[in-house]
Amino acid sequence: MTRSLKNQSIVVATHNKGKLEEFAQLLAPYGVKAKSAGELGLAEPIETESTFRGNALIKAQAACAATGLIAISDDSGLCVDALLGAPGVYTADWAGPSRDWTQAMRLVEEKLQAADATMPAQRKAQFMCTLCVLWPDGEVRYYEGVAPGHLTWPPRGALGHGYDPAFVPDGQAATFGEMTHEAKNKLSHRARALEKLLADLF
Ligand code: IMP
Repeated sequence: MTRSLKNQSIVVATHNKGKLEEFAQLLAPYGVKAKSAGELGLAEPIETESTFRGNALIKAQAACAATGLIAISDDSGLCVDALLGAPGVYTADWAGPSRDWTQAMRLVEEKLQAADATMPAQRKAQFMCTLCVLWPDGEVRYYEGVAPGHLTWPPRGALGHGYDPAFVPDGQAATFGEMTHEAKNKLSHRARALEKLLADLF
C-alpha cells in the first residue's frame, strides 16, 4: 500500500537531544509536524533486542502505542572493525548510566590500543543507523544508513553529540565533532537512512 508522511503529525521516538536536533533539521523542509517522545513525557522503553532493527521497533512501538501517532524511531551505534563490531547496539551502554561520552570514547580507545591499532587503517569504524516507521495499523518499514570512517585520538571538536569528536568520516580531515550540523547532515548515517525514508514516503 502507498504510504506518505506528507503533512502528517508524527512522534519521533527518542529522548536523545542530539538525535532530536538532527531529525528536526533533516525533516524541517518537509512540513511534517513532529513531537518527540521526550517532549511528550513518554517513558523510555528498555532496549532488550540484539539488533538495531529490533531495538528500533521497541522504541517505535512504545511511542506509537502511547500517542496513537505514526512513530519514527532511530537505533544507531558505532561499530569498530578491530573490536569485531563492538560497541554496536551497546554503544550507549558503554557511556554508563550517566551517559559520559568522554569515558565511552576512552574505553573504545583503550581497547584499540590493547589491540595495537594505531594506524587509521587499523582503526576503521562505521556509524550505523536504522530508522523504523510504524503506523498505528501495524505497518512497519525500516531504512538503513552507514557512515564509514576511522577513529582518532584524542577527540576533537565540541559540536555534535555522543562519539562525534572521535570519528573522522571517510574523505574528510575533520571529526564529526568539528563539523557544523549542516556539514555532518550531508554525510551522516542518520541522514543517509533518512534519505531513503524520504524517497519512499514523500
Ligand atoms: P541508541 O540508538 O539510543 O541506543 O544510542 C546509540 C548511541 O550511539 C547514542 O547514544 C550515541 O552515543 C551513539 N551515536 C548514534 N549516532 C551518533 C552520532 O551521529 N554521533 C555520535 N554518536 C552517535
